Amino acid sequence: EHIANQIAAGEVIERPASVMKELVENSVDAGATRIDITVKEGGLELIRVQDNGSGIAAEDCETAFQRHATSKISSGRDLFHIRSLGFRGEALPSIAAVAKVRCVTSAGGDGLGRLLVMEGGRVREYADIAADQGTDMTVTDLFYNTPARLKYMKTVQTELGHISDYIYRMALAHPGIAFSLRHNDNLMLQTNGDGDMRQTAAAIYGVSIAKALVPVEGESPDYRVTGYTAKPEVTRANRYGMTTIINGRYVRHFGLNQAVMRAYHTLLPINRFPVFMLRIEMDPSLVDVNVHPAKLEVRFSKETELLAWIEQEVRRALGAMSH
Ligand code: ADP
Ligand code: MG
Repeated sequence: EHIANQIAAGEVIERPASVMKELVENSVDAGATRIDITVKEGGLELIRVQDNGSGIAAEDCETAFQRHATSKISSGRDLFHIRSLGFRGEALPSIAAVAKVRCVTSAGGDGLGRLLVMEGGRVREYADIAADQGTDMTVTDLFYNTPARLKYMKTVQTELGHISDYIYRMALAHPGIAFSLRHNDNLMLQTNGDGDMRQTAAAIYGVSIAKALVPVEGESPDYRVTGYTAKPEVTRANRYGMTTIINGRYVRHFGLNQAVMRAYHTLLPINRFPVFMLRIEMDPSLVDVNVHPAKLEVRFSKETELLAWIEQEVRRALGAMSH
């Protein structure tokens, strides 16, 4: 109850990318192997996420949109103990409170599904329809009843940037899922879901960066790291190529990024940033939610040790490639 109180509903859905994050996390939690995302006007007009996951059973359809009906957590520390990305049972009700939601879902594999339309937090339509297994969520008219929030939305390009940045990181964190992202009928990303992180990187960053990736692989008593880091020849002018995945969850941690950059030492030109994608596994007791679960920030209990170790592992990977 405490953690639930810490997280005000309105804070969950800040912008189109927050809707996207919650919908895609639900698809991942549902065991989807395909997630197709369609966005119009940076998500301000439409956000659609289609998956081939478990679907929502008929009897769970309406409760899925009720606040805390599905909450699975009692403390902030629990976050990294649970396997699923969702845990608060708060996302769908929050989205339905500020937008129109059309949900088509089928759980049985029998071609039978439900259509549920939510508006202003209320059920507008509920019907049995034919549907393939999986879930298809369409969110429109975001913030239509909270114009103050709408006013804070920047340009289509800014909102799209937040969305694509997030989807790219999700695709890297889940290379076994085939992702596609379309914006206004323009295909921005398509991964094949064959489980190969390098292939996923090629789809996101292009073939020349994917070819410049060197594997990072290390193990210590507390940590395990796998993934790739790019040779210093292919640096970028922004930080969007830096991805850290902790126990399967994409997180943002300034110190961790700095540690990897230190590993490049003098190889990294000034104001240039490396491309890397590192999965780090550790005992869940060594990582804690910092501030706000929806914002991807974390705190490590043995931070100094972890950062020094990551720096060493990346340096070793880069050294192994140059000699
Ligand atoms: P949480 O993810 O924290 O449990 P949400 O509000 O995001 O809460 O979703 C509520 C519930 O609706 C989920 O626990 C899940 O049972 C169901 N659900 C939502 N989206 C999907 C989906 N794409 N596929 C299957 N089930 C889903
Ligand atoms: Mg969820």
